[in-house]
Amino acid sequence: MTVSVSASTRYAPYIDGGYVDPQTDAVVESVNPTDGTVLYEMADCGEADVDRAVTSARRALESPEWRDMPPAERGRLLRRIADRIRELDGSLALVESRDNGKLIRELRAQHRALPNLYEYFAGWADKFHGDVVPKPAGTMNLLVPEPVGVVAAIVPWNSPLSIASNKIAPALAMGNTVVVKPSEHATAAIMEFVAALEDVGLPPGVLNVVPGLGGSAGAALTNHPGVDMIAFTGGTAAGRMIAAAAAQRTIRCQLELGGKSPNIVFADADLDRAANGIIAGIFAAAGQTCVAGSRCYLQREIYDEVLERVVARARTIRLGDPLDDETELGPVAFEAHLDRILGMIERADAEGAEVAAGGARATGDGLRDGFFVEPTVFTGVRPEMEIVREEVFGPVLTVLPFSDEDDVVAAANDTPYGLAAGVWTRDLNRAMRMTRRLNAGIVWVNTYRAMAPESPFGGFKASGYGKEGGEAVLHEFTRSKSVWIDLAEGPARDPFVIG
Ligand code: NDP
Repeated sequence: MTVSVSASTRYAPYIDGGYVDPQTDAVVESVNPTDGTVLYEMADCGEADVDRAVTSARRALESPEWRDMPPAERGRLLRRIADRIRELDGSLALVESRDNGKLIRELRAQHRALPNLYEYFAGWADKFHGDVVPKPAGTMNLLVPEPVGVVAAIVPWNSPLSIASNKIAPALAMGNTVVVKPSEHATAAIMEFVAALEDVGLPPGVLNVVPGLGGSAGAALTNHPGVDMIAFTGGTAAGRMIAAAAAQRTIRCQLELGGKSPNIVFADADLDRAANGIIAGIFAAAGQTCVAGSRCYLQREIYDEVLERVVARARTIRLGDPLDDETELGPVAFEAHLDRILGMIERADAEGAEVAAGGARATGDGLRDGFFVEPTVFTGVRPEMEIVREEVFGPVLTVLPFSDEDDVVAAANDTPYGLAAGVWTRDLNRAMRMTRRLNAGIVWVNTYRAMAPESPFGGFKASGYGKEGGEAVLHEFTRSKSVWIDLAEGPARDPFVIG
């Protein structure tokens, strides 16, 4: 089974189990970041389309077909989704790579792992069964998990299908219905994915997609009174707006936002592995990952040695077509993002940062029409500089020296963000001290970017709240109802004494 996308493709909203005619004439183009050509178009859904999608999701939520579906059957459904992804045999990875410029070899690996995510949550569908609070005989208190309701899943462009799946799989496993709003910059893989699920047995309306701009489809979905929860992954600025809108209606909100993660190397570390971890932490996906290790701290004793290795490797990273298996760094996802990154590099220069590698748009053979940035390493930076404080979301690393644990803990935690951190050391006691002291939702020791469906993922501070993955996310997508039952018999009690 394969899917293909062409310049004549125009994605309509996917509602009630199929594509429907959009209620708008507005159209958005998605551009191939490798060569600047138009890849496909999509409807820019507005309030009318979003209303139709939310109404469909509400109907499905309340339909006996979905509401009363045995949990084990929901699990089987998720397993069939996993099988369908396997049958697609990597073709969605190809679609996604063209769309956002991420390396095909990274996306193939990511998509190979996707069925495991659906199977993991398939397993939970009939195993998350609430609790019984111990009470004296004669009284029972049951905690019954229920779906939250209609979930709006708003996702970014850097790993669209994986990030959407992090929300879709647990939300469906717990009996919710979902309306997805993909990023205008990478919509195709999500549209092709839902279309490929046509015959897996999802009741109509359980999973819908409204393509379009953040300001139209995204805002309409965020503000729709029929939405019970917003699960958002994206930048901190949009996340704050969405949280404010959710607060206005007192609905639940889960936020996976940006980061400015420190990657810390102590002198006793395995320096080869640490240098690799620094390179992988910042240059994978051209730095367009929320957990990018964009602030590298090197202990003074090994500063020169590790910096030299990192700079030498950065200078030899192969840029090129992300569909080529030999390519190590693809373009960034769209032109406005390229301009934003180049602007931050220029301002870092102007503030006095020293360029140790890269520092410009890459315009070599085959790169000229694409949105390529040289792998860039800045030294001589100060903590107050924009390049050290703000998320670049591109292949740009800052390197700073440190003296001891207190020194580096203070520097690493001096950020509004708190998503992830890396620590490289052979000293187990030091590693454990650092994991306690770092103010980040994920701490990696002697590794970077390790993730799994069964492990909760999420940040602190301006990096958001709520967890994805693991048992933790099931609490996000359920509400717990407390049911009290009095089993006593005999004469009624004094009605004015509660207990
Ligand atoms: P944005 O915040 O701009 O967009 C994320 C999604 O929100 C997109 O679908 C976007 O639509 C939509 N959106 C934008 N404005 C609004 C609005 N006013 N109302 C409703 N929806 C809106 O982020 P990017 O797409 O630029 O993604 C990059 C950011 O995502 C980075 O900061 C990164 O750190 C973060 N991220 C976090 C992750 C995590 O797990 N913590 C993982 C991956 C990324 P459109 O694209 O059409 O504008």
